[in-house]
Amino acid sequence: MCGLCCKLFLINLSEEEYKSGRYKVILKHEMVKEFSEAKKYGLNLLAQKEDGSCIYLQNNSCSIHEWRPKVCRGFFCSSKSKKYEGMREMVERSKLFLKTKNRAKISQR
Ligand code: SF4
Repeated sequence: MCGLCCKLFLINLSEEEYKSGRYKVILKHEMVKEFSEAKKYGLNLLAQKEDGSCIYLQNNSCSIHEWRPKVCRGFFCSSKSKKYEGMREMVERSKLFLKTKNRAKISQR
């Protein structure tokens, strides 16, 4: 797992996940009981850290891997499908770019 998806995307919880109360959401609103309304206002999104990454991303790994939301299970990076080959290549290039950029930063110090 590279953790890149966890830094790039907002994670929508399903109705069941949202109602379980198991996940930290972006904004808890006790007045909103109906999932359709929560979804309309984006209250079913997983909370994020200040840098925009998922609240559950710890040391580039998912700290709730066993019970991560359904949408995370479908991330293209963990799929073997050929249709995501281009996306996986793009992620690999991004990782390489970030590594190079970090190395350049370190050598400038
Ligand atoms: S729940 Fe886990 S897999 Fe899903 S975005 Fe957060 S850290 Fe990534």
